[in-house]
Amino acid sequence: MDDLLKTLVDKGLRRETPTREEALAVLRTCDDELLDVVAAAGRVRRRWFGRRVKLNYLVNLKSGLCPEDCSYCSQRLGADTGILTYTWLKPQQAADAASAGVRGGAKRVCVVASGRGPTDRDVARVSETISAIKESNEGVEVCACLGLLKEGQAGRLREAGADAYNHNLNTSQAAYGDICTTHEYADRVETVERAREAGLSPCSGLIAGMGESDEDLVDVVLALRELDADSVPVNFLIPFEGTPLGQEWNLTPHQALRILAMVRFLCPDIEVRLAGGREVHLRSLQPLALHLANSMFLGDYLTSEGQAGQADLDMIADAGFVVEGAGEATLPAHRRQERAHERVAVRLRGAGTELPPNA
Ligand code: SF4
Repeated sequence: MDDLLKTLVDKGLRRETPTREEALAVLRTCDDELLDVVAAAGRVRRRWFGRRVKLNYLVNLKSGLCPEDCSYCSQRLGADTGILTYTWLKPQQAADAASAGVRGGAKRVCVVASGRGPTDRDVARVSETISAIKESNEGVEVCACLGLLKEGQAGRLREAGADAYNHNLNTSQAAYGDICTTHEYADRVETVERAREAGLSPCSGLIAGMGESDEDLVDVVLALRELDADSVPVNFLIPFEGTPLGQEWNLTPHQALRILAMVRFLCPDIEVRLAGGREVHLRSLQPLALHLANSMFLGDYLTSEGQAGQADLDMIADAGFVVEGAGEATLPAHRRQERAHERVAVRLRGAGTELPPNA
């Protein structure tokens, strides 16, 4: 085990991708080895992100009534989960909600809408919302999360001022058919590629705890590396009653930490974000997760109740970390330079155009 961790730390400090077998071995370490695993991955985290924690805040623009059948999701059509359903917050309502998150320390606001993907009318509506949020909150980053994008939509969101686009792969290609039948893994990959090719920072992550194998977990993270995601949200399944996965309680706090450590080793210099399910699955071990992830959602997110924002801020301070300031860069300089070069290329060919699929 000592040799494995030494290899993984050396590779992480050099930004080298571990092998699939090394990543699998992290998931299969035993509880006695847990703190050694956290300490090793924590060295990699500190090398690229110091002790900074980036805070993100979710604003749900539209909730529920989705026609898709993602089995983990409380917003799927016909789900009897009792969540609040509503259609499209007005731009000023969204800007007010975003301001509350920014006051709490968030530097990125994620605007989220349920549904398979936006219509062009929806993109226009979200563009107005992005403008309203940016006018009310100088310097804030805005990430849109609207589902599958059609050609040209990513460019329009970029022109409207969006900085990033989130669309999660969720699980491996091999397991994707087990969690959704109304769209395919390839559709999700295409949307992340469209976002990146339009000059948006690609954000794409996973959900652990859906009954997948260790191989599925490693494979989805390797796929996210291939897609060159800048940020990887790690969700732990919240089994909502009324959904097909409502009884899937598969995780322990220790396993959740091993999963985060595996993601950190595979994504040494990428923003790894603690996302849905952190409270229910990490429970009292949440502060240890800060040694692995360098980013988290503040307070409430999506359709589940999170800790209040102040409790998160206290946890960060107590664990010896600091909230990343608005003027501080999240990603290391080399990644920012790579993205800047890509954006220049996008500007030269026009933000509203995209590369052909296999360019
Ligand atoms: S497409 Fe999005 S909102 Fe709709 S069921 Fe799937 S995850 Fe939920």
